Amino acid sequence: MMTTPTWFDTSIENALITHESPEDEQGYFVYQLDALKAHLAALQQQDVIKLWFAVKANPLSKIIQTLDSEGFNFDVASSGELAQVLAQGIDPERVLNTGPAKSKKQLTAFVKQGVKTFVVESLNQLNWLNEAVLEQDQPNCENARPKVLLRVQLQWHEGEKNPLGGNSLTPFGLSVSEWQNIHVDSYPALDLCGLHIFQWGNMLSNEKMFSLWSQMITPLTDLANSIGMTLDVLDLGGGLGIDYLGEGQALSWSRVIEDLAIIKAKAGVKELWLELGRYAVAEYGYYVVPVVDRKINYNQEQLVLAAGINHLLRPAITDQPFPVQILREEFIAEEGTMQAFDLHGPLCTSMDKLGHLQLPKDTAVGEQLVFGYCGAYGFTESMPFFLCHELAAEYVYQNGTLTQVRAAQPASSYLA
Ligand SMILES: *Cc1c(COP(=O)(O)O)cnc(C)c1O
Repeated sequence: MMTTPTWFDTSIENALITHESPEDEQGYFVYQLDALKAHLAALQQQDVIKLWFAVKANPLSKIIQTLDSEGFNFDVASSGELAQVLAQGIDPERVLNTGPAKSKKQLTAFVKQGVKTFVVESLNQLNWLNEAVLEQDQPNCENARPKVLLRVQLQWHEGEKNPLGGNSLTPFGLSVSEWQNIHVDSYPALDLCGLHIFQWGNMLSNEKMFSLWSQMITPLTDLANSIGMTLDVLDLGGGLGIDYLGEGQALSWSRVIEDLAIIKAKAGVKELWLELGRYAVAEYGYYVVPVVDRKINYNQEQLVLAAGINHLLRPAITDQPFPVQILREEFIAEEGTMQAFDLHGPLCTSMDKLGHLQLPKDTAVGEQLVFGYCGAYGFTESMPFFLCHELAAEYVYQNGTLTQVRAAQPASSYLA
């Protein structure tokens, strides 16, 4: 049996094998922009949902520009993300602000910079935003009223736990009973036009997503009615999954669209929004890192890599490794030639492990590994400072060419 992983686009293989740069020997990221663009264009072939990009998944300039070129809008959750999006020339009217830690100062700054869409997550945020708008120079101008969605956190009888909460209590949004204490008429400076809900991450089953979405409609429409809101917009967040473990599960996008058309009609909303993170970008990024040592410890084959969770933290906090392959010309994994290795990084903690994964038995020191699905939650979701290693370089691959966007940086660049 021969297997070629579905996550690896071999058209980039040669560029990675021939790439030589001493600075990148501590590991680097590559994003395949042409393939990303084609994927995003396919996601836009529908008129059911309005698509936003959750910037935290990958805030690299070139990634934001590619999403912009395919008509995505931007969900930002910090001042840093807003600055990065605006620096790419994005109109602030195409920016949505989510996040549980919005101070009045931050809300005021966002309003001043022209952001017109907010997801509010607490009663304080709602009051502060109303005040911030009233304190502007022309508060009564009708088109100055920002669109505001209330973020709702529901409790479910069944379900599972994950980083976004699932059934556990999180700081994201408020319960229906808390929101029921307000009335839309009390916030004349705001256009309270919708609800936001997002509690499940990395979903891989269309049936399960549809079932969860369906169960949300009644509590949400009831809430809107009871607070005097005309429910024009429903934002279902992100959470569309990536099959990190290669279990053969994958969402069908056309099914997602069919299901959401039903949800949209049942909820009776004018607009349905999604903020995609990993589903938009994960597949189009790779992380390349060399093997620096190999040994056997208590019968377990171990590889030590030049970098581990200092560049790729996600496996340590989710227990889901990114898939890996060796970088060799025209490599094909043949039955009997592979074995499981523990893959460790350089940090002095047992947490620094990128997985227990299959690689060729003859994997040697100096060879390079390539990890897949690293286009989302890679570079900026890492812990790069511990033990004073290098910050990883970031490249884009476009028109058959590898171009550096950010050079690797030694510890001296950030140590004081
Ligand atoms: C992180 C996040 C997303 C994207 O999540 P994915 O799981 O990557 O799809 C969407 N909306 C909000 C509010 C988020 O915080």
